[in-house]
Amino acid sequence: MKLETVLAAAVAGERLDDGALAFLLGLGEPAELEALFRAAYAVKLRYVGNRVRLRGLVEISNICRKNCYYCGIRSGNGKVSRFTMSREEILEAARLTARFGYGSIVLQAGERNDPAWIDFIEETVRQIKAIDGGRLGITLSLGEQTLETYRRWFAAGAHRYLLRIESSDPEFYARLHPADHRYDERVAALGFLREAGYQVGTGVMIGLPGQTVSHLVRDLRFFQKLDVDMIGMGPYLVHHDTPLGREFPETGSDANRQLEAGLKMIAVTRLLLRNVNIASTTALQALAPDGRELGLLAGANVIMPNVGDLAYRKGYLLYENKPGTDENADSARVSLERAITAIGERIAYDEWGDSPHFAARTGSR
Ligand code: SAH
Ligand code: SF4
Repeated sequence: MKLETVLAAAVAGERLDDGALAFLLGLGEPAELEALFRAAYAVKLRYVGNRVRLRGLVEISNICRKNCYYCGIRSGNGKVSRFTMSREEILEAARLTARFGYGSIVLQAGERNDPAWIDFIEETVRQIKAIDGGRLGITLSLGEQTLETYRRWFAAGAHRYLLRIESSDPEFYARLHPADHRYDERVAALGFLREAGYQVGTGVMIGLPGQTVSHLVRDLRFFQKLDVDMIGMGPYLVHHDTPLGREFPETGSDANRQLEAGLKMIAVTRLLLRNVNIASTTALQALAPDGRELGLLAGANVIMPNVGDLAYRKGYLLYENKPGTDENADSARVSLERAITAIGERIAYDEWGDSPHFAARTGSR
């Protein structure tokens, strides 16, 4: 297969078969990678421009009823001291997000589905919505819930939701999770989100032990089939107090390769899905200080700077060496703006930054 031919076809929007996707994900030479990222960047410019959408990320609680084998805050990790932010603390972070002009907020936490939690989120969303007459777009990332819960939170004012499938291959999914974490239930939850009216985001971890290029090709087809509006994905990073981290402690020890794998997946996703929002995630930044900027140059258009109180950051370690646990939101804002400007991009201040794909599929603007 000839790289120029495949990329030219991809940029032109021609159909990419599985062989072409695998070929692109398998690239390794610096010049080839550069060509791939350049092509993805051209497609990004055409569909979403060079304006970065920011979401203030607030990690509101590390309490989780699940026990995913890879995650540092899994319920089985007794070393974690658990916290939940108060409503007032969350609202404070939301007001800060509005003041910064970030336009949108993301509330993320471990998974809980007890009535007290569902009520707490509903009321919190409502109060965030009331800030400055609805200035902030609200994204939730709170795991699997019932259709009814998703509907309540949507009615309260949330309009985007991130729920990664983690891996779209049921067998591989089963290797990453205990038996009662069911793949088909996660897929069903993604359907509920769509039914409830959200802009739906999903994604996977990249560079997991045992993951192959075929798995990733399957993931890309899954995104396509689900017709998702947003993608949030990033490299897998080891946390040693987890079953996966203990069994494969060396995974991703070549940070450059792990970073490269994440960037390639972003680029190929952009070539394939065109007008979706794609996040350049913190996990990229964990592998290189400029990892998120590299993500933007490979086709991503969303960054989620942490705006939560520093006091809680060290309690939300999904993986080790997570960046930003000692930089406050204000100084992060200044350095992020500088970094984005330096690569020739601009921040879209005070916009919700909705997915153009959602507008296209629903006929809204
Ligand atoms: N509990 C919710 C949201 C918080 S976890 C949920 O699981 O949907 C958010 C994401 O963190 C997960 O979707 C997973 O993809 C990612 N994550 C967890 N452990 C990780 C690790 N070790 N390396 C990289 N990403 C990880
Ligand atoms: Fe809980 Fe999410 Fe971590 Fe799984 S990935 S253990 S659901 S916080």
